[in-house]
Amino acid sequence: MIPYGRQDISAEDIAAVTEVLQSDWLTQGQAGPRFERAMAEYCGAKNAVAVSNATAALHIACLALDLGPGDSLWTVPNTFVASANCALYCGANVDFVDIDPRTYNMSVTALSDKLAQASIEGRLPKVVVPVHFAGQSCEMTEIRALAGHYGFRIIEDASHAVGGEYLGRKIGAGQLSDIVVFSFHPVKIITTGEGGMALASDARLAERLAYLRTHGIVRPVQTNPVDARRSNEDRYGPWIYEQIELGLNYRMTDIQAALGASQLGRLDAFVARRRKLAARYDALLAGLPVLCPWQHPETNSAWHLYVIRLRRNEIKLSRRQVFEALRAAGIGVNVHYIPVHTQPYYQRLGFSVGMFPEAESYYQDAITLPLFSKMTDAEQDIVVAALTKILS
Ligand SMILES: *Cc1c(COP(=O)(O)O)cnc(C)c1O
Repeated sequence: MIPYGRQDISAEDIAAVTEVLQSDWLTQGQAGPRFERAMAEYCGAKNAVAVSNATAALHIACLALDLGPGDSLWTVPNTFVASANCALYCGANVDFVDIDPRTYNMSVTALSDKLAQASIEGRLPKVVVPVHFAGQSCEMTEIRALAGHYGFRIIEDASHAVGGEYLGRKIGAGQLSDIVVFSFHPVKIITTGEGGMALASDARLAERLAYLRTHGIVRPVQTNPVDARRSNEDRYGPWIYEQIELGLNYRMTDIQAALGASQLGRLDAFVARRRKLAARYDALLAGLPVLCPWQHPETNSAWHLYVIRLRRNEIKLSRRQVFEALRAAGIGVNVHYIPVHTQPYYQRLGFSVGMFPEAESYYQDAITLPLFSKMTDAEQDIVVAALTKILS
């Protein structure tokens, strides 16, 4: 089976992990901060906070922006459930904005219309989470302008997009949002096994993310206000730590961080290979009754996913039949994503099929083809040959 995505681990990656395993610090050593600094530098960001996974990063991002009961978070239906669940963890409400049928990202028109209506009804969101689907950036300039007008905060779910660019700058630079989140799950662009990161340009926001990751505890105490009733000895004892908020244990281990830093050194090569494979798919699929991914001119995708849409009126088979035939031919295709609002849990929250027609229509005919940095041209030719045979 040729998988839809897979990790690319080198001897150097293994050596970096082994080095940590032989050191004194398996967690909370220097590998975590080193990975954070390297990622911040790569993206041109000011601060980065490594965490146990991107879901955890989204959760503390919401907490750091004071999302809570009575507030709403808006995201897209065409995403992994985690982009929406993070609001529910905080006791807030979720709503969705339909997608742009060209990019499958949040539609700026749909967002603008929904904000205008919500403004009249007094139910504006506190946080909006654009998801850079498949590695292609959302239209952040327009979303940022709407945030300025309506006063919401922005968390970019860039789980697919590390290494991608928007308007010539790396995704993660964060000049157009409050917090940017990456995922390092093995199917994503670089991996730490499980892992994620939250980047923020605001230093105080980054500091809050850092202590929310670790129980809400800060140290050293000298730089933080201590209860004035305590004696001087308590105040300056080197053993003192203070819990100032209810945080979590969402730390990334040094084992993971060392792998991440090593993978980061190869990120540009990974993305370059993904871009080559994507361009090759574009060329090889040109004659087939499928729609290849459209790229907005302001973006330079990291190509986490290569999604085609079947031209249903030109094909006799259903999406299910094409999907099953590809799987039977040893091609590990997938579908991204089942619209979140159609999940049973979200249906129980009051969402129903029909609410976000562009995301639902896209879902009906989308298929994700295999794409990963180690994929060979020969493997890609096998995928294309299988698809050509099934569709002819
Ligand atoms: C993978 C993914 C997540 C969750 O990432 P984890 O690191 O597995 O928690 C969140 N959002 C999107 C869009 C994703 O693809």
